[in-house]
Amino acid sequence: MSVKLSQDEVLRYSRHLMIPDVGLEGQCKLKAASVLVVGTGGLGSPVLLYLAAAGVGRIGVVDYDVVDVSNLQRQVIHSTQAVGQLKVESARQRMLDLNPLIQVDVYNELFTSANAMQIVQKYDVVVDATDNFPTRYLVNDVCVLAGKPDVYGSIFRFEGQVSVFDALNGPCYRCLFPEPPPPGLVPTCAEGGVFGVLPGTIGSIQATEVIKLITGAGTPLVGKLILYDALDVSFQTIKLRKNPHCKICGPEPEVTHLIDYEEFCGLPAHDQGVDHLAAEWEIEPSELAAKLKARQDICLVDVREAVEQQVSMLPGARLIPYGEIGSRVNELDRNQEIVLFCRTGTRSARALQILLGAGFQKVKNLRGGINAWAEQVEPGMYRY
Ligand SMILES: [Zn+2]
Repeated sequence: MSVKLSQDEVLRYSRHLMIPDVGLEGQCKLKAASVLVVGTGGLGSPVLLYLAAAGVGRIGVVDYDVVDVSNLQRQVIHSTQAVGQLKVESARQRMLDLNPLIQVDVYNELFTSANAMQIVQKYDVVVDATDNFPTRYLVNDVCVLAGKPDVYGSIFRFEGQVSVFDALNGPCYRCLFPEPPPPGLVPTCAEGGVFGVLPGTIGSIQATEVIKLITGAGTPLVGKLILYDALDVSFQTIKLRKNPHCKICGPEPEVTHLIDYEEFCGLPAHDQGVDHLAAEWEIEPSELAAKLKARQDICLVDVREAVEQQVSMLPGARLIPYGEIGSRVNELDRNQEIVLFCRTGTRSARALQILLGAGFQKVKNLRGGINAWAEQVEPGMYRY
């Protein structure tokens, strides 16, 4: 191998050089390697920190977001000082603080069908550290088309999954999940929450797999899916097989180029809610406050989880969590004016679609959710 380590690098990576499965040769492979990490959130944080520490020579970082204070409970690459900064810049600084001997490329943009192929082609391995289905299918498809391994991880509350999708040697993500779930069925971490340590566990396994792929140590997680549950500390290994009818990695692929993944999944490619409701279905917090003050007969429906009422609640609101609304529509009076709300207005907007589908007419969504109410009407109330 033409890559050589400097004396500084030999000292820095000394503990790797003593392991037979890595050694000087493996460390040179790490230095020569390039890895793209899509997402600098919960999963991206440990992945990026460990790959930087391990001496992966060139690391690409893709994200479009800025650091928010609610990220810091789990996104440990970012600091309180970095709140408001670009995530890619915050991540690069921390990685270079940890290891100035590596190169960090930043892409401050959404990862889309328009730029994915061009970016992925510059790297040996891709890490899926995303938080939404459109980007996850995009990462899979671009990896299959470009012939790169996709080191996959996903998290929700106390549960996580990890695998290595390498279509050249095993199944891909579409072999496992040919179709995305119906929009809104699987809550995002922004809607359902995530245990802060969980991405540390899952992201550390992803980083392990990347380093194994590069050095050739051990057996990669190809053809296997690990399911981890933090509550009972259980790891389940599921064997995966290549789907002979897979639309992208099968012998007769239908998908031969990148598609519109937001359309494919019926979802936006980020975890923040977008407002697709027409104005007639929305009510502003101030307007609702005025109506309640005038004692208008309004049925307030809180579609959050019960636990969220520990933080904030509107007096008199009925709790019907979003997941139950479809089966409990009969509890609501079609003739009464109904106002739905959640934390920020995303879940309640979807709940409203369900009610409209069930023939309700006098129903509105509280714009911005209870957080907007707290901000605009009741400043003493917690926002979260
Ligand atoms: Zn496949």
